[in-house]
Amino acid sequence: MRQQPSVLIVEDEPAIAELIAVNLRHNGFRPTWAMDSASAQRELDAVLPNVILLDWMLPGESGFSLIKRWRADPRTKAVPIIMLTARSDEMDRVAGLDAGADDYIAKPFSTKELLARIRAVLRRRAPEQIGGVVSVSDLSLDSATYRVSFRQQMLKLGPTEFKLLHYLMTHAERVHSRSQLLDKVWGDHVFIEERTVDVHVKRLREALGADAGQMIETVRGAGYRLTAQSARPVLSQLSA
Ligand code: CA
Repeated sequence: MRQQPSVLIVEDEPAIAELIAVNLRHNGFRPTWAMDSASAQRELDAVLPNVILLDWMLPGESGFSLIKRWRADPRTKAVPIIMLTARSDEMDRVAGLDAGADDYIAKPFSTKELLARIRAVLRRRAPEQIGGVVSVSDLSLDSATYRVSFRQQMLKLGPTEFKLLHYLMTHAERVHSRSQLLDKVWGDHVFIEERTVDVHVKRLREALGADAGQMIETVRGAGYRLTAQSARPVLSQLSA
């Protein structure tokens, strides 16, 4: 039998933590709850969860400082972290993503959305990569031959779009801020504006076409994400 994925909920409000825990349990996860940074650290020292849901505003040490610490520690470095933030805190969100959070979800959130995000970060832990070929849903990229295809059809991409797509595909299902993308795709070029990222994302979507282009989501106030969930199903083409 497959083991149920464990989720560590770091949240100081008991009502919210309880609501999340109940829903996770009903959907086949094993939640544990830590109400502050010290007990969260104790939980992590004892056993590594499959995913951490981390509230931003905690008494004592903040969620932000916890992310930085956990990302710096080789033991906790790779554990997926989803931040729970207030809807208005755009700066916090970007700071959290830059510090190494995998995704964020704004309060108040629907349980369905939360579950979808958790499943998405769990899925991306095992990107399908054989040789130089990366595949996400029906989209494939071969870094040895520089070929990109969607549902067996070859697509033409410029070199920057190719690099951008390669990065997004090998880090699928997580949100990347513009500055992260600049850093990872363009390297340390101080003179490139963040708007450049938007321009290339637009070109990339155009090159991918309507169906595959939808896989690149704009996450408002945060950045971009490539997700398998957004690919338009084949059926919709037939019924159109
Ligand atoms: Ca809180």
